Amino acid sequence: MSQFLPESILTFLPDFIQIIYLIATAFFIRGLKLLNSPATARRGNQYAAIGMLIGVVITLFDQQILSFEWIIAGVLIGGLIGAVLAKKVEMTAMPELVAVFNGFGGGASALVAWGEFTRTADPTLIPADGLITTGLSIFIGALTFTGSFVAFGKLKGFISGRAITFPGLNLINIGSMIGVLTLVGIFAFDPTNQTIFWIVLGVSLLIGITSVIPIGGADMPVVISLLNSYSGIAASMAGFVLNNNLLIVSGALVGAAGLILTQIMCKAMNRSLANVIFGSFGGNDGVGGSGPTVADGDKIVRETSPQDMAIQVSYADKVIIVPGYGLAVAQAQHVVKEVAEKLEAKGVTVKYGIHPVAGRMPGHMNVLLAEADVPYDQLYDMDQINPEFSTTDVVMVIGANDVVNPMARTDPGNPIYGMPILNVDEAKRTVIFKRSLSPGYAGIDNPLFYDEKNQMFFGDAKKSLQELSEALNEV
Ligand code: NDP
Repeated sequence: MSQFLPESILTFLPDFIQIIYLIATAFFIRGLKLLNSPATARRGNQYAAIGMLIGVVITLFDQQILSFEWIIAGVLIGGLIGAVLAKKVEMTAMPELVAVFNGFGGGASALVAWGEFTRTADPTLIPADGLITTGLSIFIGALTFTGSFVAFGKLKGFISGRAITFPGLNLINIGSMIGVLTLVGIFAFDPTNQTIFWIVLGVSLLIGITSVIPIGGADMPVVISLLNSYSGIAASMAGFVLNNNLLIVSGALVGAAGLILTQIMCKAMNRSLANVIFGSFGGNDGVGGSGPTVADGDKIVRETSPQDMAIQVSYADKVIIVPGYGLAVAQAQHVVKEVAEKLEAKGVTVKYGIHPVAGRMPGHMNVLLAEADVPYDQLYDMDQINPEFSTTDVVMVIGANDVVNPMARTDPGNPIYGMPILNVDEAKRTVIFKRSLSPGYAGIDNPLFYDEKNQMFFGDAKKSLQELSEALNEV
């Protein structure tokens, strides 16, 4: 392309290309900012996608890697695959999709570093910092690749969701990581030694497997967020290898965002990252539905019916809906909105209380409810809604369990002790929609089930809400 441009323009071309990279970076940063709120998140995604398009086109143009026919064909085919995946994926399967994206991201960064290294005829001419970033990119990219696919397999059920481990595995993993980092250092002094290169690649691929396999399936969303961060760091390293500012900055953004998200998730679960990675916790996926259905020993469980429930909520002044993982499993977001609208038509104030780790990924409930067009101004964060429960007539807890478990406040020996929860037990009445008395993700009983102010509405959440919706027509 540059051969068609006049000399005067060619002089400015490198600066012009850097400016375009800067514009693409600005699109990424603006996109991230807009992802802050559900109301602007769609626009945020669009901004980031435009930034990515600019980045891809200008890189290919800058490096004159391919002809434009190939660029257009690549954009069309990649765009089509992305659009089909985005349309078809179930909300509950989103962590799996992100795991696959991370895996490919990490793998691509490792391949880029590898390609760049093998492209250089004499590796001794590559400066030491270039060799170190090459080694790190291969290490982090390769472990992200295999780790993400193990996470995907655990979530999909191809690999057991249980924490598969044996004594000493954590030590072996830590030792292997230190070993690989040492080899990367040696490689920087002796880049002609192909054996070191292959050992770094092979052991990194193994570390990805052995570090994710001992983590329980239910902790996979946290692991995926961490791997997302790794894939960003690997991309950033690849940016150093290629001397590409856009890749350095965008990789660093992904790396930082993934790490912050991981931190937020751990904090909201009152767990440390070390406990998630080394604790072998959460083998139970919380979708059991097989526990006792109406009574547990001498504890009394009170059941309600659609008709009873319809009367209670119709005559309430204020109802708060607390959605959880079961709402996502049942795909009950549309019918919950239908019920809320019927109540509002009867003059009831309806609000939604959203716990930061309700569901299986950050923002899970916000995204689900947004899909059903629930107005954003009805969604309240935990800190906003908690003071309101004491003045609420009925709280409808739909497929949520751990995030409303009062033991998090009262039982210091409990795995979720200290996790901030939605204080639904302060309301005048609670009704829990779930299929059984089975525990949720944390695998622990919930005293709320047996609280005298509580009633259970047993069944699949979607079906139960449909029955309630019909019963509301009669009141
Ligand atoms: P929980 O996992 O505690 O409980 C979900 C409940 O949904 C289960 O007890 C189950 O009961 C019920 N359920 C499942 N399917 C259905 C259905 N079809 N209809 C009705 N109910 C159903 O969910 P919460 O949202 O309360 O808590 C989330 C948990 O996940 C927390 O412990 C959190 O720490 C953890 N976590 C969250 C992450 C996030 O980013 N959001 C990431 C990783 C972990 P039953 O089988 O009886 O129906």
